[in-house]
Amino acid sequence: MHLLEKLAREKVLRDPIHGFIHIQDQLILDLINTSEFQRLRRVQQLGVTASVFHGAVHDRFGHSVGAYELARRITESFNQYYASQTPGDGLWQPAERMLTMVAALLHDIGHGAFSHTFEHLFHTDHEAMTQAIITGDTEINHILAAYRPDFPNEVAAVIAKSYENPQVVQLISSQLDVDRMDYLLRDAYYTGAAYGEFDIDRILRTMKPCATGIAFDIGGMHAVEDYIVSRYQMYLQVYFHPVSRGMEVLLEHLLVRVKELIAENPDTEVELAGPLLAPVFRPDHDLTIAEYLRLDDHLFYTAINGWQDYPDPILADLSQRFLNRKPLKSIPINELSTPFLAELTDTVAEAGFDPRYYTAQNEAYDLPYDDYQPAAKKPRTQIDIVLADGSHRELSALSTLVAAIKGQASLDQRFFFPKDMLKDGPDELFKALHERFRTLIQNDPFIPGKNN
Ligand code: ZN
Repeated sequence: MHLLEKLAREKVLRDPIHGFIHIQDQLILDLINTSEFQRLRRVQQLGVTASVFHGAVHDRFGHSVGAYELARRITESFNQYYASQTPGDGLWQPAERMLTMVAALLHDIGHGAFSHTFEHLFHTDHEAMTQAIITGDTEINHILAAYRPDFPNEVAAVIAKSYENPQVVQLISSQLDVDRMDYLLRDAYYTGAAYGEFDIDRILRTMKPCATGIAFDIGGMHAVEDYIVSRYQMYLQVYFHPVSRGMEVLLEHLLVRVKELIAENPDTEVELAGPLLAPVFRPDHDLTIAEYLRLDDHLFYTAINGWQDYPDPILADLSQRFLNRKPLKSIPINELSTPFLAELTDTVAEAGFDPRYYTAQNEAYDLPYDDYQPAAKKPRTQIDIVLADGSHRELSALSTLVAAIKGQASLDQRFFFPKDMLKDGPDELFKALHERFRTLIQNDPFIPGKNN
């Protein structure tokens, strides 16, 4: 069967994070060449974050082949140095290599345009869509099934974390997996935020299979520690950024407005959304895989561009604000601001802005690291360090830095409102509010530059 073949000569893709992505198997090449995988070139990795970090226009294609390349390198070393000798010795099964590489390559295949906003609004789920694309009637499914009839189910099981071998599952999803390692380095590079960097080569060299999954030699402990701190920093400084969340609120509200306009008058569906976007807004309609796969960033930007002069003034205004980067302003929700939020909402309405579309409460949450907590809703797989005598210790037992952030959630709740209301408001109320919010904004720890 041709799919089992190694390529006569490996192919390489130039990549700014890993140097080269090495493609050595016909199967990997065939999967990359499917229409479903090529679609990932048209879906930006960080969505509206690019409106704050203008370099961050990288796409899910690059991240997916990057995660594959890490899986390729790790399993190459596992095959060479840690191949199982006798059943049950806790070492690596070389036959799992292809499954691991394919799961890494396809782990985000179900991601769509503006995933976060889209899923929230249209009740889709990229993880469920990933499963559906792998096991449904798609080019990817046909290629996987031709390799081995049960292969699509195995790949789907790895991504769903239900596959029996914990080594394979943890390489694809755990607190230190090929997905996180690639997106942190890639997002750090493209945003220009240097604190996302860490010593990937050291981590890969000290990574090893064990009976419970994956562990790291003590020599890699500081590199692993640095990775945890980098991840913590990237969440606070990049992923939580209040300005991109202000853009996300605009996007969400303008899509809500389109949904409402179409619900009021279904005949406007195609005029408003065009044939490819229309199914998204159809009431009580579950998108088919084929419909979902046609959606990309360009389709949304083109539609929003057109909505700028649609006769509905709210839709037109929100679309203009979104395209011209006029995000809603925000203040942290805390003991200082909470007593004023109702008053602020009233003021927004008095200034002529419908609070349903021009205010929002939004929460950003992350748990940077935790050890295994059996009682947790989703228990984490802890990071284990292997000492010289072969015994295991959980990372925070050895690292005071990690111990300090273990189990500590980062949470940032914000109230969003139109900034121009403060500037243009003529009367005393606006001025008083402005003064009050200036103090709140100046004491805001999550805004790196105060003039955003
Ligand atoms: Zn990913």
